[in-house]
Parts: sequence; C-alpha cells; structure tokens
Amino acid sequence: MRIVVDLNRCQGYAQCVYLAHEVFRLNGQEALTYEPNPDDERRLQVERAAAACPVQAIALDRVDGTERGEAS
Ligand code: SF4
Repeated sequence: MRIVVDLNRCQGYAQCVYLAHEVFRLNGQEALTYEPNPDDERRLQVERAAAACPVQAIALDRVDGTERGEAS
C-alpha cells in the first residue's frame, strides 16, 4: 500500500505515531517522517492512524497494488 502525508497540514499531533509507530515517526517536536510504502499487514494500523489524524493529513492508496500493474 502507499500512503502520502500532507506535511503542510500535519501539526505534529503524533496520533499516527501512537497508532502505527512502525510507519510514522516524529523527529523532534514537529518533523514527521514516514514509510511511504508500508507492508499490507500494516494496513489496519495505518487506516486507524489516518482516521485518528485530527487534520486528516494522511491519504491512503486503496487500490491494493493495481496501480503497480504486474511489476514483480
Ligand atoms: S496524526 Fe496527523 S497531524 Fe498528527 S503527526 Fe500524524 S499526520 Fe501529523
């Protein structure tokens, strides 16, 4: 799966870090970094994190890989 965080929106509330710490990290107080292509096993965590973000800064790709075509 793919995720994109709108870092202009992100206010560093860290809800996503709390819910999916393998995917989202806060460096210092405000600099969010994240894994843009997390394993599908993390989907539930990431969906929870996206739902919990107070400013809805996390966008999920719901296409389940079809975007990548048949690439091996
Ligand atoms: S929950 Fe939203 S606002 Fe908070 S750190 Fe994550 S992306 Fe940023």
